[in-house]
Amino acid sequence: MQVPFYGHVRQYHKIRSEIDANIHEVLESGQYVMGPMLKRFEQELAEYHGMKYAIGVGNGTDALWLTFMALGIGPGDECITTTNTFFATAEAMWIAGATAVFVDSDARTNCIDPAAIEAAITPKTKALVPVHLYGQCADMKAVRKIADKHKLLVIEDNAQAFGAHGDGFKIGELSDAVCTSFIIQKNLGTFGDGGAVVTNNEQVDRVVRRLRNHGSEKRSCHSFGFNSRLDDLHAGVLSAKLKHIDEWNDLRRKHAARYTAGLAGAKTITLPYEAPGYRHIFHLYVVETRNPAHRDPFLEFLNQAGIDAKCHYPIAIHQQEGYPWGKQARIAGPIPNSERNAACCISLQCFPN
Ligand SMILES: *Cc1c(COP(=O)(O)O)cnc(C)c1O
Repeated sequence: MQVPFYGHVRQYHKIRSEIDANIHEVLESGQYVMGPMLKRFEQELAEYHGMKYAIGVGNGTDALWLTFMALGIGPGDECITTTNTFFATAEAMWIAGATAVFVDSDARTNCIDPAAIEAAITPKTKALVPVHLYGQCADMKAVRKIADKHKLLVIEDNAQAFGAHGDGFKIGELSDAVCTSFIIQKNLGTFGDGGAVVTNNEQVDRVVRRLRNHGSEKRSCHSFGFNSRLDDLHAGVLSAKLKHIDEWNDLRRKHAARYTAGLAGAKTITLPYEAPGYRHIFHLYVVETRNPAHRDPFLEFLNQAGIDAKCHYPIAIHQQEGYPWGKQARIAGPIPNSERNAACCISLQCFPN
């Protein structure tokens, strides 16, 4: 038996009529770029977050660096984040010209360890960039407190936790902006690439909107910008899927609970941890082998058995080739938890359908 890692086609079949209707609406409208479907989805997205603005962009990486740019984060500035994340978190800092500063992650949640942040702050520190890894929010209350004390910006990398929330806080509530990715393998994904910035900050809204469209606010008038738009076809797919995201996340949670019950008592692996009061949406169900030497053989065993398990992410950012990319990255303090996470993680299948 083959057990696939994703269920994209099954998901499409479940709500095919809704997706097809939106696609046809776009096709018949004749407006495919910056059209009414994009506007509609942006409105729905802002409403979903209970926030003022949402701006669709080309992908999650652009969402991050366009936000950095809109907030004036650039060369000479340091952004504090974690190294056990998808490469793009640091890549976006590199693109903006800023320096990524890595601190350790929490031993249990694998998100940024607030206790490690203060020691890494220097006069150059401009922003904190917590990643809501695997579907669980970072401890945003603690992050916010540190940001207030040191007058720092906070940008949430929410490529992996769409629909999650913390203990008494929503995503976006305690930061300057939230950056999301809609590439198909994320829990809210389109049939291709996409991303968005969600914010209450009028400046972020105005500048990202301008930057994503060749620096243009008014037809034929430009300041320098880029081309990073969310196409209306993708906005239509996402608009259809957004109506189901809470139900799909509930199913992810249900499957995760089944794993957790079935694997309780396993002595050679550690199961995912859900912080009290948090809604973990299990974008990924990640176990860790207690012994790092067991990880690769275990993964190979599963794959040989037809179970398409994966690793997110076996090579942490600071372990990638070329690090530290012209000194645009550095590690502040020991990062044993992030290194353990990279060495021991295995993602088991966890998708709604
Ligand atoms: C996927 C992802 C991104 C980048 O998103 P793209 O749409 O692929 O550019 C950024 N950060 C994290 C944590 C991600 O998982």
